[in-house]
Amino acid sequence: MDPKDIEIPDRLKPRDGRFGSGPSKVRPEAVASLARAAVTYLGTSHRQATVREVAGRIRRGLTELFSLPDGYEVVLGVGGATALWDALAYSFIGRRSQHLVFGEFSAKFARAAAAPHLSPPDVISSEPGSHPTPRPDPSIDVYALTHNETSTGVMMPVSRPAAEGLVVVDGVSAAGGIALEAADFDVYYLSPQKGFASEGGLWIALCSPAAIERIETVAASERYIPEFLSLKIALDNSRKDQTYNTPALATLWLMAEQVDWMLAGGGLSFSAGRCARSAELLYGWASGHRFARPFVADEAMRSPVVGTIDFDGVDAASIAVALRNNGIVDVEPYRKLGRNQLRIAMYPVIDPEDVAALTGCIDHVIERLLDT
Ligand SMILES: *Cc1c(COP(=O)(O)O)cnc(C)c1O
Repeated sequence: MDPKDIEIPDRLKPRDGRFGSGPSKVRPEAVASLARAAVTYLGTSHRQATVREVAGRIRRGLTELFSLPDGYEVVLGVGGATALWDALAYSFIGRRSQHLVFGEFSAKFARAAAAPHLSPPDVISSEPGSHPTPRPDPSIDVYALTHNETSTGVMMPVSRPAAEGLVVVDGVSAAGGIALEAADFDVYYLSPQKGFASEGGLWIALCSPAAIERIETVAASERYIPEFLSLKIALDNSRKDQTYNTPALATLWLMAEQVDWMLAGGGLSFSAGRCARSAELLYGWASGHRFARPFVADEAMRSPVVGTIDFDGVDAASIAVALRNNGIVDVEPYRKLGRNQLRIAMYPVIDPEDVAALTGCIDHVIERLLDT
């Protein structure tokens, strides 16, 4: 059957058809609250109390959600995680960083760290579908880890590779969906459009006292630092619940709403618990399947927030087309991976029951695709 002709009955469909890994599903209740606040909030100055209060809610909320000890600070800036990579290269890495590269995003930070004022980064790579392990080295002052590689659906543990050297973790898609201990990192950064069901354009970094000290030291050094990439300027602004340049106010609002939603549900154990439940349903389904199997062979590396499922004997792209025609969107794989695969977000906002419904829809589509 032609994928375009496949109809999925309503009773099989998830309540919400958004399974994209970024931007991800935004809660309709959060959008409604933004609409209610719009006339006194949107279009007002980010230097005034109305907006600063929302930035403050995010900073306080994340401190509580991640149980950050005294001395840790939540720093934010404009430009998303991609801008933060350049900021880290200019404002944080002392001489040389080590990067564990196991997909598109971890590779991008490694490229940003190949800046002319630094020693060439030490890059340790592994095959897609796995993660490498760090190599302690006294010449390294920043270890760059990625908690969840969104392009491949691989999770890695956050732990300190060595006693020396600061640990900087890309938690862009993992944050809120995987347990985390503050003692294990110096910088843990995220963007709101993944696990926090918000919009893009912002980066948020949880910083340890050692990270704050590093920011101060590099800022006081001779190094040329463009102001947009200065973490010292970002830090000073964040302490006033502001950003250096104008943020998207809708992004801040939706982010604050989502942090509050997670806290109201019970905090990180609640939000990570939802992801774990979704993952159990998705991988459980794929593991027993005739045509599907989890792409990540090692169960310990399988992400609870982004599931990658390989197909054999049926065309995954056709499945995605049929799903899209029925309002179930963004399960296409990461393009450059080039596999016969679907990639399914299981962020905290996504209802585990909807993940179960999605697997039922995929089965329905496969039956019809193979029914010649
Ligand atoms: C999406 C993503 C990024 C990039 O975030 P932007 O906010 O788009 O710059 C970085 N790292 C990971 C793991 C991601 O999933």
